[in-house]
Amino acid sequence: MSENMQTDEEKLKEVIRRRNRVKAFKRIIVIAVVILLLIPNIVSVYSFTRIKSLSQTVDNLAMQLENLKNVEEETVADTTVAAVELEGAEIGVIDRNDTLTDEERFPGKKLVYLTFDDGPSKYTDEVLDILDEFGVKATFFVVKMDDSEDAYRRIVNEGHTLGIHSYTHVYSTIYADKTSFATDVKDMQDFLYDITGQKASFYRFPGGSSNQVSKVDKNELFDVLSEDGLVYYDWNVTSQDATGKGISASRIVENVIAGVEKNDESVVLMHDASGKSSTVEALPIILERLTERDDVVILPITEGTKPVCHVVKK
Ligand code: ZN
Repeated sequence: MSENMQTDEEKLKEVIRRRNRVKAFKRIIVIAVVILLLIPNIVSVYSFTRIKSLSQTVDNLAMQLENLKNVEEETVADTTVAAVELEGAEIGVIDRNDTLTDEERFPGKKLVYLTFDDGPSKYTDEVLDILDEFGVKATFFVVKMDDSEDAYRRIVNEGHTLGIHSYTHVYSTIYADKTSFATDVKDMQDFLYDITGQKASFYRFPGGSSNQVSKVDKNELFDVLSEDGLVYYDWNVTSQDATGKGISASRIVENVIAGVEKNDESVVLMHDASGKSSTVEALPIILERLTERDDVVILPITEGTKPVCHVVKK
């Protein structure tokens, strides 16, 4: 009997132990399930934080890229410090001996000089056709382009002024030192002479004379130009067609008309370059608005034109 009791007690203990083991096992399962359920949440919270910080990094990089692009534009597209410098643009005085100045030829008129930089381009013929349609002469500050002999010749033959903008248009090379600048100018002068038989007399600095790229003292550059018989012209009106932000034709028209309104003499910066289709689109509207006015005369830059210079020789 006592043996039986002993067995019963042991059985009971065994049952309790088993129940405890089952309980512990259940607890482990519950904990495991809880952990399994929590893992995706933890992972997604972590991923969310990570994505947020990554997207911030991407934003920062995009901003840096935008800044870089702006610098690039500034360097490549002649926008330069134009907007800032324009207000202070000086109109240089030049000794012209006995040549009549444009002012003397057209007293009391607003003088407008349309200038096209960076050509020839795929638009040059179209630009020339439009100018021809309105009987207007302009100025082209050109760079060296292959297979464009006809364009250079057409500019000259149709009575426009063909000026030098540069041979390479690579700022870092042109402005590296005085010799590279002189070489670039000379190369372009020879290049144009070989094609047109005319010696170019006018020059426009890539980026304008106020460009911040040149490491050389500007006075040295001015010396190079005058030794080569070149007079440089900046601008005091910009069409803003080189801002690279896809400017509309109507905006270009407004910029030019507003600029002309402010000045008695307007040297207008425009571009003859691929990607500048809105300039071509704007040109007939500009010419229509200007040619219908009695107080406006549109002229090419010649010896009688007062230079507009952002920076002058000291
Ligand atoms: Zn240019």
